Amino acid sequence: MDINVYHVRDLSEEDLLELIQLEFPQCEAAIEMHMHPISALQLAGLVQLALRHPSVPDEDMRMTAVRFIDGVRAYFKEQDALAIIELIRRGYLTPTTLTCHRCGRCSYNRHDIQHNYCGACHRFADEVES
Ligand SMILES: [Zn+2]
Repeated sequence: MDINVYHVRDLSEEDLLELIQLEFPQCEAAIEMHMHPISALQLAGLVQLALRHPSVPDEDMRMTAVRFIDGVRAYFKEQDALAIIELIRRGYLTPTTLTCHRCGRCSYNRHDIQHNYCGACHRFADEVES
C-alpha cells in the first residue's frame, strides 16, 4: 500500500484505524522517556482528569493510565515526597467523582464517593498499598 501524509489526512476514521492496526507490528521497540519530575506530576494530573471523563470507557486505556500514575507515584514515594503523594491521592477525588487507583474506573455514585468504594474492584479506594 502506497500511503503518504496527504493520503492519511483524507482517510475516514474507519480506514485510519485499519491502517493503525497494520502499523503496530512495525512499532515493537519500547518507548523510553525521561522527564523532569514536575512534568511527570503534571502529566499524572492530566491523566487523572481524563480518567474522570465518562467517554474513556476502554478498560485497557484506563489500566494504562493507572499504571502511568502509579509509576509517577512510586518515583515520589522513593523520594519520600509525602505531600506530593497526597496530591496524587487527592487527584482521584472530586466532590462528585471517585476514580479508582487500581482499575481507573470513575464512579459518580454518591455512596461510593462517600465511602471511597470501587464497585468494580469491590474494594475501598483508600486502602493504602505500599
Ligand atoms: Zn477499581
